[in-house]
Amino acid sequence: MSAFPKSLLAGHLLFRDGCDAGERARYAALAQRAAPETMVIGCCDARVSPEVVFGAAPGELFVLRVIAGLVAPRGADADDGAVAAALEYAVLQLSVRHIVVLGHSFCAGVGVALEADPAATAAAPHLARWVEMLRPVVQATAASETPSLEERRQRAEQRAVEYSLENLQSFPFIDDARKRGDLSLHGAWFDIGGRALQIRNPQTGAFSNPPPQHPAPPR
Ligand SMILES: [Zn+2]
Repeated sequence: MSAFPKSLLAGHLLFRDGCDAGERARYAALAQRAAPETMVIGCCDARVSPEVVFGAAPGELFVLRVIAGLVAPRGADADDGAVAAALEYAVLQLSVRHIVVLGHSFCAGVGVALEADPAATAAAPHLARWVEMLRPVVQATAASETPSLEERRQRAEQRAVEYSLENLQSFPFIDDARKRGDLSLHGAWFDIGGRALQIRNPQTGAFSNPPPQHPAPPR
C-alpha cells in the first residue's frame, strides 16, 4: 500500500500545531454547530478554492465543487443526484441565505464542452455526459460571435454561470425560498491570473469588477 502523501501530512501538522487560542476556540465552537450563510458552487479546479477567493474562515461557506461548477437542470443528473442532494441540504437543512455560482478563467470543463473533442472524453464517459449538459452554453456561444478563442471561452465560462443560475431555479424548494425572500442567487467569475473577481449584475447579466471597498473587519 502506498504511503500517505508526505506533503499533506506535513501540511496538516503545521495546521494542527500552529492554531492559536482563537483558532482552537473557533474549531471547538464549530464542532457544536455548522451555520454557514452562503453556499458556493464552484469548479473542481485546484486553482480556484472558494475559501481562498472569498477569504472565508472555516465554517463560513458550504461548498460544492463539481466540474465547471455546473448545476444541471433538475432531473438531468439523475445518475447520482449528488448536486441535488447538496442543494437540498444547504437550502432545507442549513437555510443558507445566498447561493453563489463561481466560474473561472481557463476552465477545462468548459473548454472540453466547447471543443467537443472526442479524444478528450473517449475514455471518460461520465465526464463526457457531464460536459454534454453544457450544450446550451456551447450553442449560445457561436463561433462567429467573438473574434478570439480566449474571448469566446470567457463568454462561455460566464454563460455557464448564468446557465447554472437558471437551472437552480428549476428546483421548487429553491424557487420557493427565493420568492419568500429567504434566499438569493448570485453569479461570479474569477480571473486566475489577475486574482480578480467579476460579479454578475442581476439586472443586465453583465460581469464586472466590484467597486473597491475597505477591507472587511478582522474575524
Ligand atoms: Zn473549471
